[in-house]
Amino acid sequence: MKTIIIDMDDVMADASAGILDVFNELNGTDLKKDFFKDKNFYDFMNSGKYLTYRDRLFDQGFFINLEVMPDAQEVIKELSEKHKVYIVSAATEFPNSLREKYDWMQKYFPFISWRNFMLCGDKSIVKGDVMIDDHEKNLKTFSGETLLFDAMHNQQLEGYHRVYNWQEIHNYFFKN
Ligand SMILES: [Mg+2]
Repeated sequence: MKTIIIDMDDVMADASAGILDVFNELNGTDLKKDFFKDKNFYDFMNSGKYLTYRDRLFDQGFFINLEVMPDAQEVIKELSEKHKVYIVSAATEFPNSLREKYDWMQKYFPFISWRNFMLCGDKSIVKGDVMIDDHEKNLKTFSGETLLFDAMHNQQLEGYHRVYNWQEIHNYFFKN
């Protein structure tokens, strides 16, 4: 039995789709995730030519409306039956997100106990056997195995075991 640390945004919830919706609405663009296959999303957005989505994350309604990632519910349920699964989200920067993330979890992942759901600020204190996350800042301080969940802002990042979807994560745990 392993202790598995799972991130929410861009791992369980499709935050990038929500961010792109806001970005496109603010800038009158129609960018899709594929546009960032060969360029860094943050560099592009912070180039000075565009309005950024960031303030919108402090408003109500952003996190609660995110779509769940394909197969995340089924695979996390299966993982939680065989392993110790903890959902850990660096969320306290966005106070409105706390209630919304809790409600979102109740809606899509009711089988995850509140005991296994951590809303925090900095993940460097988190310990476990495997961490699944889309941000290097969280993975680089983790002492166990790491899985980098593919996202539009991490295309240039190398040196991590990259996974593209939840089926791959399922295979990682059940076919090894
Ligand atoms: Mg994330």
